[in-house]
Amino acid sequence: MNIEISEVANLPSRFGDFKVKAFKEGQKEHLVIYSEHLEEVPTVRVHSECLTGDAIGSLKCDCRDQLEYALTLASKNNGMVIYLRQEGRNIGLLNKINAYALQDKGLNTIEANHQLGFRADERTYEVVTKILHHFGIKKIKLLTNNPDKINSISDIEIVERVPIIMDSNKYNEDYLNIKKNKMGHLI
Ligand SMILES: [Zn+2]
Repeated sequence: MNIEISEVANLPSRFGDFKVKAFKEGQKEHLVIYSEHLEEVPTVRVHSECLTGDAIGSLKCDCRDQLEYALTLASKNNGMVIYLRQEGRNIGLLNKINAYALQDKGLNTIEANHQLGFRADERTYEVVTKILHHFGIKKIKLLTNNPDKINSISDIEIVERVPIIMDSNKYNEDYLNIKKNKMGHLI
């Protein structure tokens, strides 16, 4: 798919001073947030949009904590955060809220997705390779617990996996346990 790329702009933030570039892929507009002095082998976090977590501070998941951790690290280590617009593991906001409604009735995150006709995780990462190539990056340290991400980023050498460890709370314990026990996350 053809990708439209914005100019680079400065983005001072509470986590530090970043550069940003937008990448438009079809209907989806992704954002890349990066340090002005990128390391040659930068630490990269691939974050998928979670409106309820990232913006509202939902405690049902660990997305906002992970995003803040990644931005802090990117600022400190001259790294990059690739913010992908694939809400709700890529089922979209409306379906995600319907899945939450099913979870309110007792289904777990995987069962709720299946009931709505989706896989447990519908995300894809092809655009990540295109974005990294755009920046001339061939090797990265990947900040993730998700083995799917390691396997689905092609044509980029992942020289190291940097774990991202978050505290649980009473609302997201089940969510985190499912990630660990049913989805193979390394947490
Ligand atoms: Zn979330």
